[in-house]
Amino acid sequence: MAERQLICGQCGAANPPGNNYCGRCGVFLGGRAPDDGERWRPSDRPGEPRARRQAAIIYSIAALFALSCLVLSLVVIIWRP
Ligand SMILES: [Zn+2]
Repeated sequence: MAERQLICGQCGAANPPGNNYCGRCGVFLGGRAPDDGERWRPSDRPGEPRARRQAAIIYSIAALFALSCLVLSLVVIIWRP
């Protein structure tokens, strides 16, 4: 038994494993069809992206606050007579 060959669904040609496209007709042979990847999108899942965006906003505000505190303390340390 030979290596697992990819049989083209379009023209029936046998392609060596690892080929993403048919060597004869050029059709996509990859494990996932292009429209399958197109279907799955993060925006398809409701609720989760909004929560993640909220968390990102909270994190950015916290980071900004920490940065301003750091800068303020640094200024106080440097400018102290
Ligand atoms: Zn083909």
